[in-house]
Amino acid sequence: MPAAKKKPSAKRYRRLKAPQIEALYQRLAALNPNPTTELNYKDPYTLLVAVTLSAQATDVGVNKATKRLFPIAHTPKQMVALGVEKLGDYIKTIGLWRNKAKNVVALSQKLLDDYGGKVPDNREALESLPGVGRKTANVVLNTAFGQPMIAVDTHIFRVSNRTGLAPGKDVVAVEKALEKVTPEKYLVDAHHWLILLGRYICKARTPECWHCPIADICLYKDKTPSPDEQKSIKKAASKTLVKKKSRKLAAKPKLKKAKRS
Ligand code: SF4
Repeated sequence: MPAAKKKPSAKRYRRLKAPQIEALYQRLAALNPNPTTELNYKDPYTLLVAVTLSAQATDVGVNKATKRLFPIAHTPKQMVALGVEKLGDYIKTIGLWRNKAKNVVALSQKLLDDYGGKVPDNREALESLPGVGRKTANVVLNTAFGQPMIAVDTHIFRVSNRTGLAPGKDVVAVEKALEKVTPEKYLVDAHHWLILLGRYICKARTPECWHCPIADICLYKDKTPSPDEQKSIKKAASKTLVKKKSRKLAAKPKLKKAKRS
């Protein structure tokens, strides 16, 4: 009988333990007791618009556009009256603006038609709006309605995996893991703490581990040394290289001599 094929084993993640997770959140909470989004908004509707515009764009870029847009249109009625074309003029500096303009006007129309012009406070209704996916719905539920939701974006995905807080292969797995391991008292704010950590310290290319407040807790193996340490590492490496080169040069004549004899 042929030997049964071995099943490929599921990826094993290194995970933080409950006391470490508590310490991690305690540190982030102490540094920023009242975290919030960096998007400018004044109510659930303007937040919904800003978050819809923010996909694949920076908060700074969205704020620049909404600074001009919101004085003209900050209600679903005003947005529908503005229309796709004119809205496009305000958001042209943001990536994917054509699609976003269509979605913002369509979702505003749906809010007027089905929800009395108000942003609903439940996921199902939010996700029924044009251009609103799970992530946008989670941000609105969390930030506008204070619900304990964690919207996993690229920053949170990276931080959760690097630290071992809630590792997972995709955003849904990380979201579920975060909801499971995050103590209830931190669930409302965890979203912002982790985004800010990812945006300003645990950066995608080079995490700035040397001034990270949770460096001693984080399980990431290749922590980045401080700029001073990096300089001395480079110096030491170039010294070794010079030594190697001069040893090679010193060895060459001997070889030649050996060949002649
Ligand atoms: S120690 Fe480094 S890898 Fe870990 S969370 Fe901080 S910045 Fe990210």
